[in-house]
Amino acid sequence: MPLTEPEILQWLLEPDEARVEALYREADRVRHEHVGDAVHLRGLIEVSNICIRQCAYCGIRAGNTSLQRYRLSRDEILECARQAVMFGYGTVVMQAGEDYGIERDWMGEIIQTIKRDTPLAVTLSLGERSEEELRVWREAGADRYLLRFETSDPALFSMIHPPVHGRMAESRIEQLLRLRALGYEIGSGVMVGIPGQRYCSLAHDIALFGELDLDMIGVGPYLPHPATPLGAEALRPSAGAGEQVPNSEHLTYRVVALTRLVCPQANIPSTTALSTLNTQEGRTLGLQRGANVVMPNITPAQYRALYEIYPAKSCIRETSSDFHAQLIAGIRALGREIGEGPGGRNKKAASGGRV
Ligand code: SAH
Repeated sequence: MPLTEPEILQWLLEPDEARVEALYREADRVRHEHVGDAVHLRGLIEVSNICIRQCAYCGIRAGNTSLQRYRLSRDEILECARQAVMFGYGTVVMQAGEDYGIERDWMGEIIQTIKRDTPLAVTLSLGERSEEELRVWREAGADRYLLRFETSDPALFSMIHPPVHGRMAESRIEQLLRLRALGYEIGSGVMVGIPGQRYCSLAHDIALFGELDLDMIGVGPYLPHPATPLGAEALRPSAGAGEQVPNSEHLTYRVVALTRLVCPQANIPSTTALSTLNTQEGRTLGLQRGANVVMPNITPAQYRALYEIYPAKSCIRETSSDFHAQLIAGIRALGREIGEGPGGRNKKAASGGRV
């Protein structure tokens, strides 16, 4: 019996730290039982910071005119893919703002080339794209698509993620189902502690991960960016005293742990946003509380600081090879192994964890 939504809510509000520790242990046990001790590494390529959207939380929103914009060339992307192979990563994740300069056939050819020349799985995270583009990229060989629904509260979502003028607004849930129908493994997730996010809506988000039977789930703390409407203090809406979810490290671990119990087989990263809040231990604690994936940033160094979705991303200071060596050592020190191969979702008959 998986956790029910009221039980999830209770866990989010649980005041007894000793009980929360038990929750973390159970999440770690369920992780071990269902996805094993392998930590899969996905090389993250931040392909472009150009974006037509005006997301109220995101530092690369179109309205941020102080940001220098870039798009990697085909050769730069292919060089990143070669580097991922060299590091032994099984997957590359190509992420970007919603950039229509990333054209259907240009990206299709890059995907085809990566799939032809390397053993890598290809994950895309390019925003809300047309069915036609998504089909062409899938046919070119893309394996997975990440599109966080950010919050399942429709009023909060439309406030933080305004629709594009003149385009029919389709919910991100509908888009995820369409991606699955095209044959992608689908990934989604939320930010923890968006201003206006209530505990009950976060509990609903987590229950929805289970209902959607997501293959991948990324959750991280919301980190305010000063060049965004939501990050500018004065404009910050709040769900009201006692109801507002804090954007804290501790609550994020709870969400990671509950996500593992609701979706035992999913691939769940210990996110960069989490290690930005706690650079010493964030990644490790995420891996010990339900996560089984890390996404090392392999974007060329000169572009990294420009993909500033939130300030002071933890990966900015690291060179790929220093980070790689430390990461491998850190994972082994936990008694875990480095995942081999593409590390896709392994579908078995599910049985959720209980606490
Ligand atoms: N354009 C793509 C990729 C966006 S970046 C898309 O919209 O899907 C990937 C994720 O970073 C977002 O889905 C969001 O959950 C997260 N993110 C963006 N801004 C953030 C912020 N200020 N704090 C924390 N996470 C943020």
